[in-house]
Formats: sequence, C-alpha cells, structure tokens
Amino acid sequence: MMSQPGAMLGVVKIVVQVKLLPDAGQAAALEATLWAVNDAANLVSAVAFGRRVFREYELRKQVYGELKARGLGAQAAQHVIRKTCHAYQTLKANIRAGNLGKPGAARRVKAESKPVTFRPGAAQPYDDRCLSWQLDKRTVSIWTTCGRLRGVRFTCSAAALETLARYRQGESDLVHRDGAWFLIATCEVPEPETREPAGFLGVDLGIVNIATTSDGQVMAGRALNRYRRQQQDLRRKLQAKGTKSAKRLLKRRARREARFARDVNHCIAKKIVTEAERTSRGIALEDLTGIRDRARLRKPQRVTLHSWSFAQLGTFIGYKARRAGVPVVHVDPAWTSRTCADCGHASKRNRVTQARFTCRGCGVVAHADRNASRNIAARGQVAWNAGRQSRAPALPVTGKGWTRQPASPLVMP
Ligand SMILES: [Zn+2]
Repeated sequence: MMSQPGAMLGVVKIVVQVKLLPDAGQAAALEATLWAVNDAANLVSAVAFGRRVFREYELRKQVYGELKARGLGAQAAQHVIRKTCHAYQTLKANIRAGNLGKPGAARRVKAESKPVTFRPGAAQPYDDRCLSWQLDKRTVSIWTTCGRLRGVRFTCSAAALETLARYRQGESDLVHRDGAWFLIATCEVPEPETREPAGFLGVDLGIVNIATTSDGQVMAGRALNRYRRQQQDLRRKLQAKGTKSAKRLLKRRARREARFARDVNHCIAKKIVTEAERTSRGIALEDLTGIRDRARLRKPQRVTLHSWSFAQLGTFIGYKARRAGVPVVHVDPAWTSRTCADCGHASKRNRVTQARFTCRGCGVVAHADRNASRNIAARGQVAWNAGRQSRAPALPVTGKGWTRQPASPLVMP
C-alpha cells in the first residue's frame, strides 16, 4: 500500500557493488579462501543431501568439526553451513513454484537427484567480524585462510561510497567473476514518502524501441538490437562447435551479455525516474504480463523480444522510483497501441506500420510508440484517481489499478 501521511516508512534494500583491487599476493589469498570455502560448502552439501539433513542447527552438529579441521574459522564455518542451507531452501522454493517443471520433468529430476554444488568462485558471505571497511581510505580488511588481509583497495562511484557510508547493514558477499574480485554490500535505504503526483509519465515498452515515454523520449533501439543479434550469431556458432572450451566461452559470454542488459536497463530506468522526479510526476507502466501477447512479430524478432528482460527493467524502475518517492502505477496495455491519444478513436487500422500511427478518426499522424505511451500515461492517471478514492477512509479499499514492486534487492554499480 501507499504510505499515508504520518504512516511508518519502510526501507528499500539495495546492494552496492565495489570492485576490489588486490595486489598479486592479496589476490592469491582471496582465491585460496574462496576456493576453500566453496570446497567446504560442497562437502557440507553432500552431507546434507546424503543424510537428508537440511536444518542449519542439525547440519552444524554433523559438519562443524570437519570444517574447523580444514582450517576454517568459527565465523567462516558458520557462514558455509548457512549458505548451504539457503541454497537448499532456494531450490525447494523453486521446485514448489514450478520453476523446474512438473514432477518428473528432466530438469527437476536432475536437480533433485544430486547435491547442490558451488562453483569455486561462488559468493561467500562476510559479516562485520570477518570484514571491515575503511571508507575514507577506500580499503577493506578481510579474513582469509592465509590470515587477515589489511588495506585491500577497492573502487566504486562516489554515489555508491556515500550509500555505503550511510546505509550499509549486515553481511557482504565476496565474489570472483571473470577474473575480477567484487564485494557486494547490502544497504537499507529509508523509503521517502510517496507524494501526490502532478500527472503521469507514460512508458511504452517494446523491442524496436526498448522504452518510449509520453514526453517523446525514445530509449535504446537499433544499436542495442544489433549487438544482441551479433551475440546470438556467435552463440549459435559456439553451440555448433560443442567443445568444452566453446561451452566455457558460451557461459562467460552469457554472463557478459546479462551484465550488459542489466546496465542498459539501469540506464533506462534512471532516465525515466529522474525525469518523473524532476517534473513531480508519477510513472505509468504497462502490466508486463501482457507484453508477449501484444507483440506480433516475425520469428527472429520474437526470440529477441522474449529474451529481453522487461521484468528486470520494471523492477529497476520500481526500485529507483521508491527511493525517489515517485509513485508507479501499472496499467492494462490492451489497445494502447491502436487507440488515438488525441481523440480516443480505437481501430486496428490506426496502426499502419511498426513505427507510424495514423488515426482514422481525426487524421493525426504520430510516432506509434509515443502515441501508445500517452495512452498509458492517461490510464495511469485514471488508475491513480481510482486508487485515491479507494484509499479514502469512507470507501472500501480495492487497491486495484496499481501495485508496488516486490522487495528483492537492486544492484547499484
Ligand atoms: Zn484521433
């Protein structure tokens, strides 16, 4: 629900990622440590799976001695056990949610028939006893199996540093990815009160233009799709090769592409939220569940569309908006691309081509995505008004027409 005046305000959980700049000796110690804890996690996982013991307390009784004997400190041993338990909880939740298919599905059988495994570079949580931050010097002091490392330098943006200084809470993850070291810190940023918007900024999502606003701002598009097509071709070639090194390269490429897409989504989300904040407006987004039905495209494009993470973009917009106190409304996107934003005339014949909208009622010619985003903005206002009425004390609360984003963390680069 939206915050009422004087209501308790929540917090937004975000994660700040900093890149470590260890010297050669420090890097070797970090590597030895991450390898050791993940090796230990694989051992704990095998015990948990083999003896069907998945509760942290029970599992600790069975493996703690062995972990200590391997030279892990008390904190590290505890974190290894907890991380293994969490991995099984996540697996269980995924199975229950049907993410691995129905009972008997190949993926599900595979996941259920062997212990969860951890990559040598998989994330390891560190609490304040194992990791301390010297933000002014941009260094950390961190526990390793080779003793405590002091003065390990890191780099991040000024904004990220300020967020760390003010809001860092609890544990951070040490991760090794594509040859680089990262710490991912959790921050709890207080949520500002959502204010009454002076109108709505409508956002149309699509594959030719990733996002088009009702102000006429068009984001991403051709260059991005060219890059994605290149990646797809490369992927096909590597898949055809089928060798081990090709598979490794494929995995690395997939991660790099996911990171690229995430960066693009961050940029787009930031532009949209900044513009809404600057003009004191709310943001109207289409309900993302409809996007696949709406787009009737040729096959190659359809593949691209399905693999673009619009859900992630929606999540990023939701988070950045919450942090800025900008309300977000989700609307039904049906017919937004075929209805005239000027006169309201709705007809399939209004949409002449992918790019152009020509109204058969009033004759107006418009950029098709912009026309759609103006309809989305208008629907956003209607939904907000309906929600406002329903929020008034005398009337029953329906909450329909707008939603809050789920509370999973957002990565701040
Ligand atoms: Zn018209």
